[in-house]
Formats: sequence, structure tokens, C-alpha cells
Amino acid sequence: MQRAIFNEDHEAFRDVAKEFMKRFATNERRAAWDEAGEIDRETMKAAAEYGLIGLSVPEEFGGAGMLNDFRFRAVVGDEAIKAGSGSLAGAFGIHDDLAVPYLVHFGTDAMKQKWLPRMATGQILGALAMTEPGAGSDLRGVRTTAKKVDGGYLVNGAKTFISSGKTSDVVVTFVKTGEGNRPDAFSLLLIEDGMEGFEHSRTLHKMGFHGHDTAELSFTDVFVPAENLIGEAEGQGFIQLMKNLPLERLSIAVAAASAAEAGLGWTLEYTTNRGAFGQQVVDFQNTRFRLAEMATTVDVMWAYVDRAMDLYSKGELSADEAAKVKFWTSEREWEVLDMGVQLHGGYGYSMEYPIARAFTDARVHRIYGGTNEVMREIVARAVTGRK
Ligand SMILES: Cc1cc2nc3c(=O)[nH]c(=O)nc-3n(C[C@H](O)[C@H](O)[C@H](O)COP(=O)(O)OP(=O)(O)OC[C@H]3O[C@@H](n4cnc5c(N)ncnc54)[C@H](O)[C@@H]3O)c2cc1C
Repeated sequence: MQRAIFNEDHEAFRDVAKEFMKRFATNERRAAWDEAGEIDRETMKAAAEYGLIGLSVPEEFGGAGMLNDFRFRAVVGDEAIKAGSGSLAGAFGIHDDLAVPYLVHFGTDAMKQKWLPRMATGQILGALAMTEPGAGSDLRGVRTTAKKVDGGYLVNGAKTFISSGKTSDVVVTFVKTGEGNRPDAFSLLLIEDGMEGFEHSRTLHKMGFHGHDTAELSFTDVFVPAENLIGEAEGQGFIQLMKNLPLERLSIAVAAASAAEAGLGWTLEYTTNRGAFGQQVVDFQNTRFRLAEMATTVDVMWAYVDRAMDLYSKGELSADEAAKVKFWTSEREWEVLDMGVQLHGGYGYSMEYPIARAFTDARVHRIYGGTNEVMREIVARAVTGRK
């Protein structure tokens, strides 16, 4: 089904993204990213030069000013995924959808002046650290503390599962600045790579997204200057997270739809070229029916995701609508890619094939950004009006 949300500017931008992927998302480079467990900095800088990152940075700071218009970021992610690199799409998304928005929405003028121009050019890359070894879904259970001292804060604690945690230069970090677990007991601090006592302690070995680093971070008496508090006052962190989480969930839904569509394309191509019992696999009735199901599901996913992007651009994507689209699309993605793997036979299980990589990448879409169980809780609360 023809999607209706893009205009000629997006199509022209898609050509630029395609050109970048052709040059940079080659099989050789992708294998190198997987081997290193991270995207190299030169690629990220080149992406910024092509105008593919820094999209959510306002124009006055050198970015594209597209924080509220998700379509350009959707195009970039789509092309990276179709080029077989979910990791590259992930690295772009963490910077533009998870880190930059906190500075744009809540940062002081001084903070914006200091960081955003370099975040627009990819010189400075950001990450977002909420999760801890003892607290993921239940964010109010975090234990990383930021104690007020002369001129700033002393931070102690640990974070885990932080995407771009090793390669980022600044980390928007969720900390406790107050007692108890009331929403106003938390703040966000911008913690800089190189601050004494801040370490990227370990890079995690994951099931998928092999080319994108996910790290543990540790903080031992890290002095963070008061100017790195995100927002005008302490105690805003929880509310700030709640305001940005719909964007994070939308970005997962968009990636899920892109991966499902890419999976359909790879499966169609593979089954057309593969023979069995004297015919092409694509001509078995089962294959035809599965492809029909996959194609229909992809169309419905896009119809839903495009509507969510539209609502987001108008500032109308509510927390429960974002939760719905995140859990529903990530589950459809899983089903579509599973069909794709099956239709590839044994080759679907080989990481040399993009369908296998997309399948393992997809698994985490049901876990991060808030698990799909937590998403259902949010939706159920809205549906029933009960806690
Ligand atoms: C590859 C990867 C990248 C990530 N990137 C980031 C990142 O950049 N920044 C960041 O801060 N975090 C990141 N995360 C962390 C991720 O958001 C958490 O793993 C996720 O929110 C779940 O938290 P948890 O792992 O502590 O699981 P838990 O919260 O311990 O959940 C365990 C199980 O209990 C279920 N559960 C929990 N609460 C409820 C409930 N109320 N009702 C029903 N079931 C419930 C969960 O759904 C899950 O099935 C990443 C994780 C991964 C795997």
C-alpha cells in the first residue's frame, strides 16, 4: 500500500540516505562493526556530514530542526535497516531520539549553547542512562545518587544496558537527588565522558544488534557541575522522562515496521531464487500465502505507525497511544520476521543472511523502551481508568 506521509523533500532526502548506505553500510563495514561491537566514529561523523544525524537539533544550533517531524528520522532508520544494519539505525536513533531531545526540551540556554552545535555535527554523541542492575521497569527503584555539594553533585552508582554507553561522549543520566521514591526525588544530569570516577565498565555481549555497543556504566564520586543539571531545578527528572518516553516508543515502532518490510523484501527475493522439488520456493502455495500475510501485516503496521508519527508531529501522541503502537508493532515485527526466517530454510538461521540478523535484532524491541508487559499495563490503565 502506498504510504501517504512523505512528500518530495522526504523522497529527496531518502536518495541522500540511500547514497550514504551504499558507501558506508557495506558488508565489509557491517562485519567490522559487528566484530568491534560498535559503529566507528568516522561513520557517525560522515553521517552527520550527509545530514543524517543531528536532525532533532534546532536549526539555530546547526541542526535540521526536525525534532517534532519524525519523518526524516524514519527515512534514515528505514534505509539503514534495509541496508542490513539495524545497529547503524540504532546508533542514529539513540543520539537523535533518546539523548538530544532532553537538551532541546529541558536544557538551560547555556547548556544548549554548549552542547547542541557539536551534537548537530556528530562531534558529540549522546546516550540515555536510566536502567540499573536492580531497576529497569520500575524506574523509581534506581539507586544512583547525586548528592549536592559545593558547585554541583557527587554521583555514585551504576547503570546497565546503556545503548551507545561506550561510544557516547555525554550521557543523560537518571539519578536520585531526593529521598524516597516520589516523582520529585529524581533528576537528570548530563555526565561527560572523561569525568573522574565515571567509567564504561563493560560492553555487553548481546543476542542481536552486534554492531551497536550496549554498556555498563559506573560512577564513583563523580563530580558533576551544577550547570549539567537538565532543567531549571532539581526534581524534574521523572517528569522529563515521562514526557520523552512516547518519542522513544514511537522510534521503536518505526524501526519495527521498517524491519518487517525489509524482511518481506529479503524473503521475496530469496524464495524467488531458491529452487526445491523442481520449482521455485516462491511458487509453493504455502510460501505465497505466507508472503501475502507478511505483506498485509506490513501495510497495517505502516498505516498505524504513520498515524502515530502524524500525531507525534502535532504534539498529540499520548503515553498510552505510544505504548500501544510500540507493543503492537514490535509483536507483528517478530511474527513477520519469524515467517521470513522459516521461508529461508536453514539459511534463515545463518547470520550471513540479513533476515537472521533482523530477527535477532528484533527480539529486543519487545523488551527495551519499556517491556511489552509494561506497555500493556499503561494501555490497560487508560482503557479501564484503574491503576
Ligand atoms: C539491547 C538493550 C538496550 C537497552 N538500551 C537502554 C538504554 O539505552 N538506556 C536505558 O536506560 N536502558 C536500556 N535498556 C534497558 C531496558 O529498557 C530494560 O531492560 C527494560 O526496561 C526492562 O527492565 P529489566 O531488564 O530490569 O527487566 P525487569 O524490569 O526486571 O523485568 C523482568 C520481567 O518482569 C516483567 N515486569 C516488570 N514489571 C512488570 C509489571 N508491572 N507488570 C507485568 N510484568 C512486569 C517485565 O515485563 C519482564 O518480563 C536496554 C536493554 C537492552 C536489552
